[in-house]
Amino acid sequence: MKYDLVVVGAGIQGAGVAQAAAAAGYTVLVLEQSSPAAGTSSKSSKLIHGGLRYLETAQFGLVRESLHERALLLKLAPDLVKLKPLHIPVYKDTTRGPLTIRSGLSLYALLSGLDANARFHSLPSSQWDSLEGLRQDDLQAVFRYYEAQTDDAALTRAVLHSAIELGAECEMPSRFVNAYVNSKSCVVEFESEFGFKAVSCRVLVNCAGPWASDVISRIEPGMYLPKVDLVQGSHLLLPPLLQHYFYLEAPQDKRAVFVLPWQGKLMVGTTEKVHYGTPDGAQCSAEEREYLLDVLSHYFPDLTVDPNTVDSFAGLRVLPRNNKTAFSRTREVLFEVDDETSPRVISVMGGKLTTYRHTALMVLDKVKASLPVKERVADTSRIPLSPVSWI
Ligand SMILES: Cc1cc2nc3c(=O)[nH]c(=O)nc-3n(C[C@H](O)[C@H](O)[C@H](O)COP(=O)(O)OP(=O)(O)OC[C@H]3O[C@@H](n4cnc5c(N)ncnc54)[C@H](O)[C@@H]3O)c2cc1C
Repeated sequence: MKYDLVVVGAGIQGAGVAQAAAAAGYTVLVLEQSSPAAGTSSKSSKLIHGGLRYLETAQFGLVRESLHERALLLKLAPDLVKLKPLHIPVYKDTTRGPLTIRSGLSLYALLSGLDANARFHSLPSSQWDSLEGLRQDDLQAVFRYYEAQTDDAALTRAVLHSAIELGAECEMPSRFVNAYVNSKSCVVEFESEFGFKAVSCRVLVNCAGPWASDVISRIEPGMYLPKVDLVQGSHLLLPPLLQHYFYLEAPQDKRAVFVLPWQGKLMVGTTEKVHYGTPDGAQCSAEEREYLLDVLSHYFPDLTVDPNTVDSFAGLRVLPRNNKTAFSRTREVLFEVDDETSPRVISVMGGKLTTYRHTALMVLDKVKASLPVKERVADTSRIPLSPVSWI
């Protein structure tokens, strides 16, 4: 047997699984067809957050876990994950009134274990006009609370680098082509500039993000293809027109939209639109661009945006297929295991950037029956993460 685990994909989930597996003493090979974070993990809202809005859909477990991971990442990766103050303005016609927001933020603080970073307050009205032209008509309250911001691709590279330092191997660029599974092992075929290669492993971990279904369809014997949708979320990247961070309610459909200064730009996002076609085809449409610009001009009526300076990017969430709107579908990570008692293949879909470390531990727990007993070499909750320029 060459490897204990082969991981397909070096997005945040693949990097996280590789790090956790190597820390647990397993031999790991990561296959990435392009470069680390080439998929969704470079196209997120770049927040390491509890997910305040998930309280509305009663995803309390996810919020608690995310707040715990946020606190940990602020300690482990201070150069990559930084706390920022977000502002929530509440108007007469906002769906969620001051009392709802206050209750939500209080619950958020409780779920964080009353962590100092979960503090919040309502800004006195004398400070509202310092918020860079925020619309003042019918403004009833402005709350300030804290979330953490990161560079998602840099975080993914740092986690992958940590995995490699712990002994994980990485073939990149290398494309997973096929896998043949039997009761004892899994033979994995992949293609790189040097041609085709085959390795064997005990467990194949499919972390191919929006390509996960394609990976499953290449495994023999055929296995259950989970019913998922790819839901596109787009962001605009504008010149640095604002210095404050905002969490807004889109007037068009009452969805949450973030306005976030990031690396010398202003990020505005996100949208939710079911994506049909291959993952490579995701891009911000003219309607999404208009929708996001309308949100911005609704709240900042004096802001002038030169259309020639508007850049954009689009990422794909993997969400369970059902009749609910994308906004109300679960953001919990989805696992698909071929055989609960003797797992050979596990697919990891969706989830959050924030909770990658916890997700990775869950993956190892789900496949431990097929792995040998190894001596742990490190604990991922204690490994510092620093920016790395290249892998
Ligand atoms: C718009 C949007 C905003 C979001 N914002 C946030 C946020 O602010 N905070 C948060 O916590 N979460 C956020 N998320 C969720 C988070 O970004 C994703 O859950 C996470 O990035 C998914 O990572 P992944 O590793 O599963 O997938 P990906 O990052 O897509 O990685 C999959 C990798 O697999 C590789 N691959 C695919 N097929 C093959 C193959 N055949 N062979 C080899 N390699 C292959 C791809 O090249 C890719 O690198 C957001 C998601 C979206 C869409």
